[in-house]
Amino acid sequence: MYDYVIVGGGIIGLSTAWQLQQRNPDSSILVLEKESAVARHQTGRNSGVIHAGIYYAPGSLKARFCKEGAAATLEFCRDNGISYEQCGKLIVATNEIEHERMLELYERALENELDVELLTAAELRNREPNIVGTAAIFLKSTGITDYPAICKTMARKLSEMGGETRLDCEVTDIVETPDKITVELADGSQIESKFLVACGGLMADRLALMQGIDISFQVIPYRGEYYRLPAEMNNIVSHLIYPVPDPELPFLGIHLTRMIDGSVTVGPNALQGWKREGYGRVNISLSDISSMVRFSGFWHALRGNYKSGFQELWNSCWKPGYLKQVQKYCPSISHADLSPHETGLRATAVLKDGTLVQDFLFEQTARSLHVCSAPSPAATSAIPISRHICDRILGAQ
Ligand SMILES: Cc1cc2nc3c(=O)[nH]c(=O)nc-3n(C[C@H](O)[C@H](O)[C@H](O)COP(=O)(O)OP(=O)(O)OC[C@H]3O[C@@H](n4cnc5c(N)ncnc54)[C@H](O)[C@@H]3O)c2cc1C
Repeated sequence: MYDYVIVGGGIIGLSTAWQLQQRNPDSSILVLEKESAVARHQTGRNSGVIHAGIYYAPGSLKARFCKEGAAATLEFCRDNGISYEQCGKLIVATNEIEHERMLELYERALENELDVELLTAAELRNREPNIVGTAAIFLKSTGITDYPAICKTMARKLSEMGGETRLDCEVTDIVETPDKITVELADGSQIESKFLVACGGLMADRLALMQGIDISFQVIPYRGEYYRLPAEMNNIVSHLIYPVPDPELPFLGIHLTRMIDGSVTVGPNALQGWKREGYGRVNISLSDISSMVRFSGFWHALRGNYKSGFQELWNSCWKPGYLKQVQKYCPSISHADLSPHETGLRATAVLKDGTLVQDFLFEQTARSLHVCSAPSPAATSAIPISRHICDRILGAQ
């Protein structure tokens, strides 16, 4: 009988296991991951950005976790020899509407007590000769890192303290009784524990349903397709370049990201996904589609975002449309410069009324805690989110 079983070897599961083991050195902790390596899904298929926390409402948990998470991530990287770079980020306005929105964002950054500067068009050009805009916000502390390396290090540190991570172990059933919680694995074996923490990302709702928890959301996958620039363009920018986000849309817009391996990616877009954990160009799962179309929230979300959804689909199929979005602020990038790069899939919890959950969402029972929604910037915020999870678990026991 384990003290804790954690389902999911992404950054939330591993950070939670590592912190629980630190706080309870004598407890037995087991992480179960269905893939043959950790960080195979959202954590290993993202932009690799350590966000500063400019976008979130001042005083919100998301703003606080992001700011604390950025500092904690940098410290973890420094302490463990993991690559990172604080290259800074520019949010570039290219027209009057974006300029207005940028100024509002700047006010928010000040309220969130971030180290920011407003740049004029000339100052922007000085910093980034290949970028054009009417003005920009310069966020000095934003950085980049290698999240899979962070996960591997957390798994190693967990094992050094006596914890265990088992790969190729898919959880297929969870049964809670008053005195224990039993998980069944795909090979038919069973594991018992006193408490379970589920951090299943794109499968979060299915893990909760397996346990018979009455949830009011479904995870809908949104694809994030990227392109990569050729190696000779790795120095096209020295900061991360973001557009000013449209407040009506839940995602940040196509950005130019310097990756920790020195390459530069363009993306991601935000497209309806038709298969959870399906990353190829054409990916369809009849069972995933069937559960989506039977869920009212899917149709409400589709109706609410059909214009932007159609635009995203068009731009995904028609490269010049995708290109136009980045040429707005970086005109020297051409069609021939874009080669395909790994796609990511965002686990977006959608409520029955079609609301896309932008915050963390937890479900708790006497012997379990399910992380139902851990949206971006949850890679940045993973350490404080997991601290919060540990507080909740230890407080409840
Ligand atoms: C395109 C994209 C770009 C992003 N960019 C950034 C960024 O730049 N910065 C940032 O901070 N955040 C970013 N994010 C968000 C961030 O990556 C995620 O919020 C974070 O990685 C979530 O981590 P997780 O551990 O909850 O999920 P995941 O990393 O998806 O891990 C869940 C794990 O659970 C496992 N699992 C599921 N079901 C089972 C089962 N039945 N049995 C065993 N194991 C199971 C899965 O195999 C998986 O390994 C981005 C996300 C995407 C998709």
